Amino acid sequence: MTSTTQWTYAPAPESRDIARLRPSYQMYVDGRFRDGAGEPLKTVNPATEEVLAEVATASASDVDDAVKAARRAFDEVWGPMPGAERAKYLFRIARLIQERSRELAVLESLDNGKPIRESRDVDVPLAAAHFFHHAGWADKLDHAGYGPDPKPIGVAGQVIPWNFPLLMAAWKIAPALACGNTVLLKPAETTPLSALVLAEICQQADLPPGVVNIIPGAGDVGAELVNHAGVDKIAFTGSTEVGKLIQRSLAGTGRKLTLELGGKAANILFDDAPLDQAVEGIVNGIFFNQGHVCCAGSRVLVQESVVEEVLDKLRYRVSTLRVGDPLDKNTDVGAINSRQQLQKITELVDSGDAEGAHRWTSPCPLPDKGFFFAPTVFSDVSQAMRIAREEIFGPVLSVLTFRTPDEAVAKANNTPYGLSAGVWTDKGSRILWMAGKMRAGVVWANTFNRFDPAAPFGGYKESGFGREGGRAGLEAYLDV
Ligand code: NDP
Repeated sequence: MTSTTQWTYAPAPESRDIARLRPSYQMYVDGRFRDGAGEPLKTVNPATEEVLAEVATASASDVDDAVKAARRAFDEVWGPMPGAERAKYLFRIARLIQERSRELAVLESLDNGKPIRESRDVDVPLAAAHFFHHAGWADKLDHAGYGPDPKPIGVAGQVIPWNFPLLMAAWKIAPALACGNTVLLKPAETTPLSALVLAEICQQADLPPGVVNIIPGAGDVGAELVNHAGVDKIAFTGSTEVGKLIQRSLAGTGRKLTLELGGKAANILFDDAPLDQAVEGIVNGIFFNQGHVCCAGSRVLVQESVVEEVLDKLRYRVSTLRVGDPLDKNTDVGAINSRQQLQKITELVDSGDAEGAHRWTSPCPLPDKGFFFAPTVFSDVSQAMRIAREEIFGPVLSVLTFRTPDEAVAKANNTPYGLSAGVWTDKGSRILWMAGKMRAGVVWANTFNRFDPAAPFGGYKESGFGREGGRAGLEAYLDV
């Protein structure tokens, strides 16, 4: 075991006042905030279990109103508008996200449970970056490689999950608008607030009514949106199970679909890698955002000759992660997003125990209230175990071993998913060889969880199809 002095930290909480939390939020349709005819939902702070706010939800007729508003906006305003004009709105939205960044970061941490350090330094800046990036494309679509005058698809229906609420909204909305589409977005039931502040930002940016519509609600609102015949294209991020349902209901309709689903990424560590740096990358790969990351490096494959050394370093490093109040600037791992997700993580971890893996759990103290799970590392994991096959979507790492590069590739690809992978080695030639062999949409080399709006992101197999980001991501919103 490595030994170093551990520093203690005084609490450094960010003030929640800046989130300007209101007791109730309305949905955003046709440029106006209004109540919905659905049963309002209560959104909860997962770190304290207190109700944060009541949020209006859409009924079937509200979804229909929003589709009509989006169609009108597409036909009359946004579709015909020159790209250079559309770009101005996207730039404006990007700048307003930056101006309101502290408010958005605190609100996101309250509603989602993620550490303020991450919402402040990752989610919000990346959301702004997606609007900046796509603003740049809006007047250059002729040069994107999709023909001389590529046309938008029309009205896009977008359904997003709870793990990166604002960032996923930006990933979805920015390319759609840049290409000239109008959108309806359904945020996840447990994290609707930042998307509604983004709606305020759209209003502040003078975005024409109907171009962006935000319709909160549960899965039934998502299903209503997906099945509405007036929606030309669906973009979904979430579980593979719901993705399959959506694909089934769209089959034969001629409506377009992109799916960004689950993952069980392999993060592969060769014995020639700088081990301390690799351990940092492994920790970031799985404990970032409590492991609620579709591309999380949830399976680490370690070359057998260094596995004991790596496990020692890993346990020591993980034991220094501070788990607790998401608003504290020292917190590394925040709250699990919901009781339901906590139950799912607990069930899968129990299955790891039952199937004979060796569990190590960080001895860190956990808060008395709220949904928290101590960072956990399983070793002696075999490929058949559920913890090696299923997406846990929590702060739980499964460590497996390999001897040769071929074995590493075979194990990495032995999954129904194919979203991301990581390789840690000193040899550039090996990185290129591995990257060519792995069926993963993104392969990170000597780093992990790096995101950039210019880089396409998406999966193979049960991780979905279609790309988001970069030039490739435009294809999903153009009639090509
Ligand atoms: P879901 O796939 O159910 O949720 C994703 C989004 O789809 C949410 O907005 C949800 O609404 C909505 N939705 C649910 N049912 C339907 C439907 N029939 N038609 C259209 N939209 C629908 O994920 P969960 O939140 O239930 O999480 C379950 C598991 O999925 C997690 O434990 C995790 O393993 C995985 N997951 C993976 C993600 C990824 O990015 N790969 C993201 C989220 C979850 P609502 O939230 O209101 O139910």
